[in-house]
Amino acid sequence: MAKTYSIPTYFILIIFLINLISSLLLTWADVLPYQLQTLTIATRLRVDLDATAKASRDFGKLVQQTPAAVLYPSSIEDILSLVKFSYNQPSPFTIAARGRGHSLGGQAMAPNGVVVDMTSLKNSGAGIGIKVTKNHVSGSYADVGGHQLWIDVLQATLEHGLAPVSWTDYLYLTVGGTLSNAGVSGQTFRHGPQISNVHEMDVITGKGELVTCSKATNSDLFHAVLGGFGQFGIITRARIPLEPAPKRVKWVRMLYDDFSTFSQDQEHLISINGLDYLEGSLITKQSPPNNWRSSFFSKSQYPRISSLLTKNGIIYSIEVVKYYDDLTSHTVGEELQELFKGLRFLPGLVFTKDVTLVDFLDRVHSGELHLQAKGLWDVPHPWLNLFVPKSRISDFNSGVFRDIILKTNQTVGPLLVYPMIRNKWDNGMSAAIPDEDIFYSIGLLHSSGADDWEPLENQNKEILQFCDKAGIKIKQYLPRYTTKEDWMNHFGPKWKIFEDRKAQFDPKMILSPGQRIFNSI
Ligand code: FAD
Repeated sequence: MAKTYSIPTYFILIIFLINLISSLLLTWADVLPYQLQTLTIATRLRVDLDATAKASRDFGKLVQQTPAAVLYPSSIEDILSLVKFSYNQPSPFTIAARGRGHSLGGQAMAPNGVVVDMTSLKNSGAGIGIKVTKNHVSGSYADVGGHQLWIDVLQATLEHGLAPVSWTDYLYLTVGGTLSNAGVSGQTFRHGPQISNVHEMDVITGKGELVTCSKATNSDLFHAVLGGFGQFGIITRARIPLEPAPKRVKWVRMLYDDFSTFSQDQEHLISINGLDYLEGSLITKQSPPNNWRSSFFSKSQYPRISSLLTKNGIIYSIEVVKYYDDLTSHTVGEELQELFKGLRFLPGLVFTKDVTLVDFLDRVHSGELHLQAKGLWDVPHPWLNLFVPKSRISDFNSGVFRDIILKTNQTVGPLLVYPMIRNKWDNGMSAAIPDEDIFYSIGLLHSSGADDWEPLENQNKEILQFCDKAGIKIKQYLPRYTTKEDWMNHFGPKWKIFEDRKAQFDPKMILSPGQRIFNSI
């Protein structure tokens, strides 16, 4: 039998529905043009708290900016029609593509605008997937949707015995997200960052036009978008060159008690041919040998490392990799010995592991799962990432590592330091790097409890002030600047080009407002 409601219950239900509808209308009418509801994409736009709350947070957990709506596109046309619509409004609203939201300071947020959840292209099975083209003469490549995760690119390309050559340490990031910054890791010294390893892209500009670009066609857009912080367009496809994939890797770490020997050996190793990967890190009480980034050392190796740490306060560790396969398996050991000749690591303190390519490239994920299980992944991350010119790396060591970090003793998390080579980068692209042939990538990858991230942020400020006072011309990587002046300093002589390209490709300043370059928030 059908349930009957009394008059007061009907009345309450009607009031509830009126309230619900008017609160939705208010959200639209308040900040987004009402006509947006007449587009077909309206059914894929959500204004509910579930959707907007998720899009108002990121991995950094340091800022929160709520969008008016979130678009879950089911096709590239959905994104096109959203950008076109905003562009044609008398007062356009802002739009941010969100990959995995693994930014640190709200870069993928759009306060009162629309966040485009790129990963929904994958869930809906639409958009560009991962399509591999094999060509032994002109070179193989993969056409990859901007929303794809690098882990999926790895797995799909390996099915063809191929793989990209330039990676990030962590693979659960989107192609569009890392290409908007640079994409750096231990392969950068050899192959350049990920932005140096792109043939072609499809991009939706801030004018709502879908444009294919490469070094030869629409090259201004191509150069603008790579390392362009999402300012010029939304990447919907990138063509990534592929090489035959090795099967296994020899993975070696060697320890030093002296920074200058450590950095000289790093510079020597990137100057000779032979290694496939090189990074380096600091081991301190607060940054133990094994952490979420890499659980390399076995329990039996710990006591030796611990006693060395007690003696020195800091130990420096070089981490290198050489790829090999069936054909080279019997020579790889000797080749490594040859490459290591003349290195000055502490006698006996060299450790080797032998793993598959996938276990090596995906090494951070197990650390993530471990922390997630303990509730320690989804916490604030006041990271500081810098590029430091080689000529001042020793001053950086004494002023920052030995002084600020060791003395204040509050850094928690991996501390990375490794060199890169400027000529592997394309200066015509948007990414800004130091003006020296060799510069170091520094990653201070702090985590904190929900309410105690501020001292770490203050420490970051102290480090930046130290560099400024000492005249160390650093560039921030994954910057979190808040003023236009800071951005102008960051780009230096490239600022004018960056600004001109913005006027050309996103004149109404619609895209990626969370970077705070052209939009003050
Ligand atoms: P999001 O945070 O979603 O977006 C970042 C920016 O890119 C935003 O401005 C957004 O609007 C824009 N954007 C997103 N998608 C697109 C698109 N399709 N087209 C145009 N613009 C777009 N970086 C390294 O270089 N090397 C590393 O080894 C490395 N390791 C990391 C490890 C961890 C655990 C984390 C959390 C981050 C790491 N990063 C590293 C940083 C990372 O590369 C950047 O934060 C990257 O932006 C994250 O990708 P995402 O997909 O989450 O992008």
